[in-house]
Amino acid sequence: MEPTIFDLILSKEIPADIVYEDDYILGFKDVNPQAPVHVLFIPKVRIATHNDLVEDNIDYISKMHLAVNRYAKEISEDENGYRIVMNCNSNGGQTVFHIHMHFLAGRQLQWPPG
Ligand code: 5GP
Repeated sequence: MEPTIFDLILSKEIPADIVYEDDYILGFKDVNPQAPVHVLFIPKVRIATHNDLVEDNIDYISKMHLAVNRYAKEISEDENGYRIVMNCNSNGGQTVFHIHMHFLAGRQLQWPPG
């Protein structure tokens, strides 16, 4: 698999505004934010799309959710609320093929999305 821009962020070959890190997950600000808070949470292993989740790597999803919870609490957006989005492939609007959770917060978000 070709490395993605997120592999280069993980290896610190290109800079990112990192706001969260643990043994499994990295969280950094989206370069093109869609809300006052827009952070991408990615696993520290390459999983290209949601379709590539299997028994052996599914625990990364739990770790991503825990990372989101910790970060939301840390920035005091847990009670206000937020949205988590995972895009898959073309119709989902996925552009970087290393799974990620978009964490969006800091304003009233509209539903349904476009
Ligand atoms: P997707 O469309 O795949 O769900 O989301 C990819 C996200 O990655 C987009 O929101 C885009 O703004 C963000 N992104 C793309 N390249 C970079 C980059 O080099 N640095 C950061 N911080 N975000 C990026």
